[in-house]
Amino acid sequence: MRLAIFNDYRLGVVDAAGQRLTDVTAELGGRWEPEAFGAGWWLRLCRDFDELRPQIEAACDRGEVLELETVVLRAPVLNPGKVVATAMNYADHVDEMRDTVLQRVAGRVDPALLDFDVFLKATSSIVGPGSHVVLPAIALREQKEVHHEGELGVVIGRAGIDIREEDALGHVLGYVIGLDMVLRGHGDRSRRKSYDTFTPLGPWLTTADEIGDPKGLDIHLSVGGATRQRANTDQMIVSVPGIIAHASSIMRLEPGDVILTGAPPGVGEVNAGDTVDVTISKLGTLEVHVTADDAARQRALDEINARGGVGPGAPSGRA
Ligand code: MN
Repeated sequence: MRLAIFNDYRLGVVDAAGQRLTDVTAELGGRWEPEAFGAGWWLRLCRDFDELRPQIEAACDRGEVLELETVVLRAPVLNPGKVVATAMNYADHVDEMRDTVLQRVAGRVDPALLDFDVFLKATSSIVGPGSHVVLPAIALREQKEVHHEGELGVVIGRAGIDIREEDALGHVLGYVIGLDMVLRGHGDRSRRKSYDTFTPLGPWLTTADEIGDPKGLDIHLSVGGATRQRANTDQMIVSVPGIIAHASSIMRLEPGDVILTGAPPGVGEVNAGDTVDVTISKLGTLEVHVTADDAARQRALDEINARGGVGPGAPSGRA
């Protein structure tokens, strides 16, 4: 099943062709909350999905059907407690960082940055499909590179601490396409990857039963139609179950948490005006637009403000 969050944070089920969506919000009854801010309905849906699934499936026969092109798809997660990201999980990416990228963007290679690791990204950096990724002022002022990292994303359904690798996939609700945008340079990853709009997710969440073992998925990222990243999840150094086991040995994984599983090789710079497309087998395509334009920036921040309960139009006060 493909779960989408659309328009005013309603719940939809996308058809197999990726053309239409059925509005199943009514099936959630009192569980659904109209205000996105602090809404627990999505996290409860992640937790209780197995129980709610038959009801949602049945609703696909009676809910309102909408053409996808007539709705605004939001990020297919809402108020996750955390975004866990994975560093250095494809050998060819480790090589490119060591051999070229780190020298260029940081002037040196810190060996600690070449180890497999997990870290956190601010959840406020999440945006949906079709959104703008806003280049931070510092990137423009100091001519720092902002890079794309197109990655497989995992959404947790069942909570766990110290999850065993062999049990890990049982904790997964589903998968999304993720873009782990990053300002290259010195300093902490969490800061450089948490700029507002730096975590596009989409286009919808495909439940785990449609994927099975998340090996063998092709990942393709292009900028302006030109291929940058092309890889297969088979090439991960630490597989999805291994990442879940490792992350949950550090922090409790909770319903709705998002895990980004690491950048395939081919990371590179994006500039204002670029369109970035990421396609992953069975998950669809996520497209975003890179901007440094004031009006586009304000629209992107309006979206983040609205989800955060501030309301559209709150000035960013940011130059
Ligand atoms: Mn990454």
